[in-house]
Amino acid sequence: MTTEIDPTWTTEELSSIREGLLIAADRLRAELLVLGNASAQAVSASTLEVLHDDLDVATHRAELLQDAVQAENTAAILAQTEHVLDRLDQGLYGRCEQCSASIARPRLEAFPRATLCITCVA
Ligand SMILES: [Zn+2]
Repeated sequence: MTTEIDPTWTTEELSSIREGLLIAADRLRAELLVLGNASAQAVSASTLEVLHDDLDVATHRAELLQDAVQAENTAAILAQTEHVLDRLDQGLYGRCEQCSASIARPRLEAFPRATLCITCVA
């Protein structure tokens, strides 16, 4: 049984989704810039050992490492956001990348960055 929800998005809806994604991408880029500096420091964290006692170094290194992990996550979300924007520009928004089926509206409303339908994700 298929309860087909109208997959068609109006131009207004698409442009507001586009705007949301662009704002998100800008925010992620800014975040990445800050985190990128932190993860660059993480690489040279060993130099801190001369400056601090062991506990300070460990704490600081853990923080930098956390930033590096976060930077990686942020970069992944940014890449996905840009990917969705590309698809939107190609008129493919709301279409599953894998099986070309329409992605259900409620799913896209919850996850505007989704590019796979629920069947392909599972
Ligand atoms: Zn699919």
